Amino acid sequence: MRAGFVDAARRPNIVVLSQLNTAVAASFFASKPLALLLYGVPGSGKGTLGKMLSQVTAWPHISTGDLLRKHVAEGTSTGQASAGILRGAYAPDYIVNNLVASRMREADCRRGVILDGYPRTLEQTMDLLPVLRRLNLEPVLVRLNLDYTEVVHRLQARCHCQTCGAIYNLVHLPPRLAGSCDQCGGRLVAREDDQVDLLSKRIEQYLTLTAPVARFLEASSVRVEEFSATEAPSRLLTAVLTRIGTETPSDELP
Ligand SMILES: [Zn+2]
Repeated sequence: MRAGFVDAARRPNIVVLSQLNTAVAASFFASKPLALLLYGVPGSGKGTLGKMLSQVTAWPHISTGDLLRKHVAEGTSTGQASAGILRGAYAPDYIVNNLVASRMREADCRRGVILDGYPRTLEQTMDLLPVLRRLNLEPVLVRLNLDYTEVVHRLQARCHCQTCGAIYNLVHLPPRLAGSCDQCGGRLVAREDDQVDLLSKRIEQYLTLTAPVARFLEASSVRVEEFSATEAPSRLLTAVLTRIGTETPSDELP
């Protein structure tokens, strides 16, 4: 049994992982080193999927937001240069590119990585592809499709733990006890930026930024796999592992 499964058994919020078919997991582990690029509009469940994938594969889940926050907290030169960024604006491409590239050069990334929220711009994408080639990581665009009404529904249902930050969804990933965190018992609150009046702006911004990125990746012959984000997280996880672990672009059905 894989270490990831043992860890998962100790996390009540991720018990679904222990129900995964071991054959699915085995075929996934046999695949070559990959860089999974997670794409989906805000509310598509991309962060949750990233964390679950990371637990099953033991590949690092690299979120540029988390990386930046870490550097700011540790007071590194990158952190000082980007201190204003976390208050709202996006970080300049060169800062993010360097952060992600140096993170991916660490030893724990050799078998695979999961990139969440990166690449976000065309410039980041053009920088990333040669870096992945040098690191022998094959990029796969994992696109979560979700229609607008479902996005609104999900964001309205999303909340997080005030104490430990664990994320819940009252529809798709409810806590065992209403209003209380499974992991630490902390109080669950709705995210401030989940208000519906901000939603269309976030979605528009996302689409404006990422549509050219997706087109560029496709034009660069990067493998693209699409999934319906309306599936429950455990089913989505199994679907991603099954398709990415067992199929190659050449044996896809027409
Ligand atoms: Zn908690």
